[in-house]
Amino acid sequence: MLVWLAGRSGRKAHRSFRVRQVVQGGFALTCVLLGVQFARWVGSARAGDLPLPSRPTGAEGFLPISGLMGALDWIYQGSLNVIHPAATVLVLLAIALALLLRKAFCSWVCPIGYLSELLARLGRTAVGRNFRPWKWLDIPLRGVKWLLMIFFVGSVLAMGREELSAFLSSPYNRVADVKMGLFFTDLGTVGLVVMGVLVVGSVFIQGLWCRYLCPYGALLGAFSWASPARICRNPEACVSCGLCDKACMARLPVASKDTILSAECTSCMDCVAVCPRSDALGLHIGRRRVAPLACGAAVMGLFLAGYVGARVAGLWENTISDAEYVERIQNIRSNEYGHPGMEGPSASTPSTR
Ligand code: SF4
Ligand code: SF4
Repeated sequence: MLVWLAGRSGRKAHRSFRVRQVVQGGFALTCVLLGVQFARWVGSARAGDLPLPSRPTGAEGFLPISGLMGALDWIYQGSLNVIHPAATVLVLLAIALALLLRKAFCSWVCPIGYLSELLARLGRTAVGRNFRPWKWLDIPLRGVKWLLMIFFVGSVLAMGREELSAFLSSPYNRVADVKMGLFFTDLGTVGLVVMGVLVVGSVFIQGLWCRYLCPYGALLGAFSWASPARICRNPEACVSCGLCDKACMARLPVASKDTILSAECTSCMDCVAVCPRSDALGLHIGRRRVAPLACGAAVMGLFLAGYVGARVAGLWENTISDAEYVERIQNIRSNEYGHPGMEGPSASTPSTR
């Protein structure tokens, strides 16, 4: 088992520290279970079956912008909003993880990142490789996620204290999680085509969404610059085999750098897993080398402690009653639940998804 977890079995080209895959798989399974429970809960609300089954609060993890707004509002008001408190807790946990272990959220936690890796692996199995856009195209495309992140974060920061507070308690935000679910279940032709392009494209281009388009990943990348964790190469032990370059899904030039400082590094440690020299490459915090098991334990420990701590402190569940949810969800397609930014009073307000 330990041999398998350490990636010491299997073809060299496919080796990775499987402890990461186990952690990723665990988070992905949790998200699937949350999704199933969420669909059940929405179905009961639509049918008016009171009392509703338990609402899976963790689904608020898919509302990162609402979470970010909640964090700013927390600073303004001194108390956490009662509409989507878990969204704020989860965003803050992701930022804390970025400050500790760079973009480890992307490679150890995020279900989209996991799906993206699986699709890329499917592509390698099917056609033997993933394709890389030309450098002249790759560089500007990578800028798209940064522009999206600046737009969303800038829009949130531009909101005044009153506007932010009004948005968080607006009818739209109160059911933002349900609207987000409906967005995926009621995809129109355009939405289906976009999804299809992203899924099929991710088979051939590794990390199509994460590398070029994900503003959340860009935000975590910005915080990762403040992290003390970094991949360090010992040039004296390195035998210049180049395996680390080939393994890096962020396509970083690991073999020619002594330290990886890029905001694209996700602390996946795939480069470390393939390195034939045990003393040539490692993830370091200061002088300490971080073992993959310790990395996985830190990721899971942080989220578990954050979840338990938030529950104990009363910062997890919202205060919306079952009766209110039933009434709102049954009328969710009415104009009342349009995005406030579309109605005029806060035209700069971003979507909370
Ligand atoms: S440098 Fe290493 S740890 Fe960072 S993204 Fe590339 S393979 Fe992963
Ligand atoms: S895989 Fe290890 S030995 Fe090979 S180039 Fe990278 S750091 Fe050097």
